[in-house]
Amino acid sequence: MKDQVRLLSVNDLRVHFSQQKSGGLAKPFLVHVVNGVSFDVFQGETLGLVGESGCGKTTLGRALIRLGPSVVSGTIVYEGREITSIGNREFRSLRKEIQMIFQDPFGSLNPRMTVGQMLGEVLLVHGIARGEAARKRIEELLDVVGLNKEYANRYPHEFSGGQRQRLGIARALAVNPKFIICDEPVSALDVSIQSQIINLLKDLQRNLGLTYLFIAHDLSVVEYISDRVAVMYLGKIVEIADSAELYANPKHPYTRALLSAIPNPEFGGKKERILLNGDLPGPMNIPSGCGFHPRCPSAMAECSQRAPKFQELTDTTNRHQVSCLLYE
Ligand code: SF4
Repeated sequence: MKDQVRLLSVNDLRVHFSQQKSGGLAKPFLVHVVNGVSFDVFQGETLGLVGESGCGKTTLGRALIRLGPSVVSGTIVYEGREITSIGNREFRSLRKEIQMIFQDPFGSLNPRMTVGQMLGEVLLVHGIARGEAARKRIEELLDVVGLNKEYANRYPHEFSGGQRQRLGIARALAVNPKFIICDEPVSALDVSIQSQIINLLKDLQRNLGLTYLFIAHDLSVVEYISDRVAVMYLGKIVEIADSAELYANPKHPYTRALLSAIPNPEFGGKKERILLNGDLPGPMNIPSGCGFHPRCPSAMAECSQRAPKFQELTDTTNRHQVSCLLYE
């Protein structure tokens, strides 16, 4: 933990959207994608957010900056200010401080603009720099993400996947943000390139004092970059702890199952794998009680009746919180 100052506080956040049944005649039904999520992000840290695809982690990240379905209840507090209900105009000025890096940087880069034009537009729109000052700032940004300043004249299709992700990072940095939501930023890259981008993100964090919410499904990558890790299952956070604590001492049966799937080189790449029953249910079919009970190897009779509370464990000093009846 680098700093105790709370930058972001999310309290009981719910993001639902309505979906029409096929045929279109029946009433639309609600899909509970994020279903009562609470967590803090402290200044200067990286909070990793992991879970299977479809668990709601990307929707949660997007909801924080109003991309995608809107928040139906709960609060988001940024630097002590409640921002859930502020108007779009006010929110736009906040977007300078909160940026997002996407999994597919190519999809978010305009193919008709050179890198210089694209970064110049960001600087102009946000009133940061124009003309010669903008040109210098663009060179600085390219340098900071490890790209040659001559690349300002190139178009996105002229770059490799790793270089495009560097451009995505440069664009996020152009507005001098404090907080960056990294949504699966290395999942589409080769392993060797993944480590370069992760190391770049770590260097930038150290040099610029950035705070990250790092969303990913690869637990090894998340362990490497994160100070703390939150595990998400079916729209809820089921466990959060300091990274070293979570990986050494996982409490929730779901976290244990996820970690058991990571190859362990110390044991010749093999360790006992915990297999879960069935697939992740859809967010329109959330089971009663603990949402994990149909797949949980430790499920008890009451697990289908009663939802566990999300609570701090008292036998650890590592701010370890878990949502499981085994610990109540
Ligand atoms: Fe498993 Fe029950 Fe704990 Fe849910 S509450 S994780 S079903 S043991």
